[in-house]
Amino acid sequence: MRIFVTGGAGFIGSALVRHLIENTTHEVLNFDKLTYAGTLSTVERVAGSDRYQFVQGDICDADAVRAAIAEFRPDVITHLAAESHVDRSIDGPGAFVQTNVVGTYVMLAEARSYWQSLGEQAKAAFRFHHISTDEVYGTLGETGLFTEETPYDPRSPYSASKAGSDHLVSAWGHTFGLPVLITNCSNNYGPYHFPEKLIPLTILNALDGRKLPVYGKGDNIRDWLYVDDHARALDIIIEKGEPGETYNVGGRNERRNIDVVLRICAVLDELRPTDTPRAELIEYVTDRPGHDARYAIDATKLENELGWKAQENFDTGIEKTVRWYLDNEWWWRPLRDQYDGQRLGLEKAKA
Ligand code: NAD
Repeated sequence: MRIFVTGGAGFIGSALVRHLIENTTHEVLNFDKLTYAGTLSTVERVAGSDRYQFVQGDICDADAVRAAIAEFRPDVITHLAAESHVDRSIDGPGAFVQTNVVGTYVMLAEARSYWQSLGEQAKAAFRFHHISTDEVYGTLGETGLFTEETPYDPRSPYSASKAGSDHLVSAWGHTFGLPVLITNCSNNYGPYHFPEKLIPLTILNALDGRKLPVYGKGDNIRDWLYVDDHARALDIIIEKGEPGETYNVGGRNERRNIDVVLRICAVLDELRPTDTPRAELIEYVTDRPGHDARYAIDATKLENELGWKAQENFDTGIEKTVRWYLDNEWWWRPLRDQYDGQRLGLEKAKA
């Protein structure tokens, strides 16, 4: 298949691109604007493949999207490009509405006109796959899991913009017959994760002997998914997913934030011992405004209908991740120089 990936220079998109080039025979076009969150170093190890190409472009630019689609002639569009950091959506929600909502509209409009130009067989086989988040479902109490039937209840500008884009994708399926797929996944972690997010930020601060900020009491719960497990899930869904369906992707690995940070400290203390345990660097800081208490995914539909299962549990995945950051300073050092870990998301909204 010819797979057009948006956001393929980012964290999850690059894991998908690496997976598709290294483990399948598909052709891949990576369409990415290269914002602060995207770097070509994430795909460096597959960039030499003759099945891989890159186009620098903005999903909000209809002419650029149209030209790239016309030239590549995809069988599948896998749409991951987005503004993805909740804290940044508190400081500047406008960029999230623009990229996530308007950008997804542009992708849908251009995908639809290309799809209409295809012959019957190619038209039936075509897929538009939107990668979304479990945060669209809102927040859970102490029990229960998000299923594909959970009503949407987004609470941050980020999750509201992703909910909006999900609704557009679904509408293009119902109204225009575009063969769409939506996947909602839980928090990803693993190699090549931009060091603004909890896990890479904690690893790098701990390595530097700096304070480890934990929001609130650290008791917010996330359901962690190793990024390569997610990439495999996306590949299976592209190949076998039923058009019009939504699939939840989750690793069945719920952890309190404080336990995530403690585990990273323990792994680092073992691999790079220091005189004082790194847990002493933990510092509780003002909570994120509107911080959702708990997310947890029921991935039964994906497991039973398409046969996917997460291969990593949190302990194996976090150890791999910490080792990767220890071995790959070449990748993270330039990003760390550009964003030094300062607190985001407490400011009053500017846009
Ligand atoms: P990321 O921030 O690491 O990467 C986003 C990529 O999109 C970057 O390469 C960036 O350059 C590109 N991009 C941004 N705006 C663009 C534009 N206007 N045009 C073209 N490219 C643009 O994000 P990620 O963590 O890899 O997330 C990928 C997708 O998965 C997003 O849609 C996100 O909402 C969703 N998601 C992420 C998580 C997670 O835990 N990271 C969880 C659930 C869902």
